[in-house]
Amino acid sequence: MSTIHNDHHADSYYFASANPHPMRSKLEGDVNCDVCVIGAGITGTSAALHLAEQGYKVVVLEGHQVGWGASGRSGGQAIIGYNKGVRDLYSIVGREDTKKLWDMNIYSKQLLIDTVNKHNIKCDLKWGHLMMAIKPRQIRELAQTKEELESEIGYEGLQMLNQEEAFERVGSHKYIGALSDPQSGHLHPLNYTLGLADAAQSAGAVIYENSPVTHIQQGNEPIITTPSGTVRCKHVIMCANAYLDKLAPSVGKKIMPVGTFIVATEPLDDSLAKSLIRDDEGVVDINFVLNYWRLSADKRMLFGGRVSYSGIVPFDLKQTMGNSMRKIYPQLKDARIDYAWGGNVAITVNRLPHFGRIAKNIYFAHGFSGHGILLTGLAGKLMAEAVQGTAERFDVFTRIPHMSFPGGALMRKPALVLSMAYFKLRDLL
Ligand SMILES: Cc1cc2nc3c(=O)[nH]c(=O)nc-3n(C[C@H](O)[C@H](O)[C@H](O)COP(=O)(O)OP(=O)(O)OC[C@H]3O[C@@H](n4cnc5c(N)ncnc54)[C@H](O)[C@@H]3O)c2cc1C
Repeated sequence: MSTIHNDHHADSYYFASANPHPMRSKLEGDVNCDVCVIGAGITGTSAALHLAEQGYKVVVLEGHQVGWGASGRSGGQAIIGYNKGVRDLYSIVGREDTKKLWDMNIYSKQLLIDTVNKHNIKCDLKWGHLMMAIKPRQIRELAQTKEELESEIGYEGLQMLNQEEAFERVGSHKYIGALSDPQSGHLHPLNYTLGLADAAQSAGAVIYENSPVTHIQQGNEPIITTPSGTVRCKHVIMCANAYLDKLAPSVGKKIMPVGTFIVATEPLDDSLAKSLIRDDEGVVDINFVLNYWRLSADKRMLFGGRVSYSGIVPFDLKQTMGNSMRKIYPQLKDARIDYAWGGNVAITVNRLPHFGRIAKNIYFAHGFSGHGILLTGLAGKLMAEAVQGTAERFDVFTRIPHMSFPGGALMRKPALVLSMAYFKLRDLL
């Protein structure tokens, strides 16, 4: 029986194709700074970059290595939007905040582009995205999404594809239609995170790896403890995402870590790759327990899906995930699978991100619920703004109401398993 995580990077295609990056030392002794960032995924490295660029003295404490968490393992799909429809958002946060949330969501794409360009981050960024429908109910859902986004947000470029068009774009007979969104895209998530960390370091941030935070002492000058040193600071930014539970149980109970898995095939020849995803887009189907896939820069099929609540990897992951992939693409029956790995997505009850403060100078953002590639970069920037005294945009997110998962830590998983079982059943209808 193996688990999703060990102390090192996942044995993934991303790690095998990571850009050269330094091993960073662990914190030893006691240091002072303006801002201590906990966790070096996209959220933490983005916050560190934006603060260091403004002249703040920033220390980042990463429990493992930069990009070890979801940021270095994900499907890499940079999808604009939220896990809730626009009109659903109206009923949760009102019209005005919905508009602001959407403005920021669209800005998060520009932020990504600007950051990648400014710091010359080589992360295979591409645009184009498809949401696939298996059944008529899902076609109606996609058409409604399109109508809402166009009429309420003024979002442009969406196009419904019929069965034939969907097949031309994604050579699988499983789908009866799709929604194309040229504004969303995909990237190599580990290289993006490593690039952000390098940029933050160049701007003056100090990043310590293998330095897990074990305690936060709150106060005007919080003291952050690791096994071999402490950081005294004026502000803390918590970016531990799915791993926050022990560090801040009061906010940790708003999120639930759920395992999801990806396989990478061997590089495919160009004509086969093109027949699978003609325009090299990111692709998801819209089942509740969704499949997501895309091609890597060297033309491997990266295929993700399944869920695990226990942190235990399904027996023979390559075989299990390979079977799911071949149900969609029988053409890949002979393709060798080179890598298989998993990671934890942090989900919230309402599947919207959870931002807030646990004290006036301790901020957090987590629970991106599978929409993290764009929202994490934004979260880091907004927490940096809040530290600088302009929390207006950050506070739009803090106003999203969140429930705790019912029953506390022990009951959270069984309760979720029950609700997921229902949705899995619904996927079949
Ligand atoms: C398999 C998988 C596929 C996904 N696919 C997509 C996708 O296609 N599109 C999308 O938008 N999103 C996707 N996601 C979600 C997305 O990856 C996340 O939302 C995003 O990466 C979260 O970034 P983060 O920086 O907040 O957290 P993380 O990247 O998880 O980083 C948290 C970091 O905090 C560190 N840490 C934790 N506790 C401590 C501590 N006590 N002390 C010090 N450090 C600590 C961890 O080691 C980790 O490096 C996927 C996630 C997974 C796992």
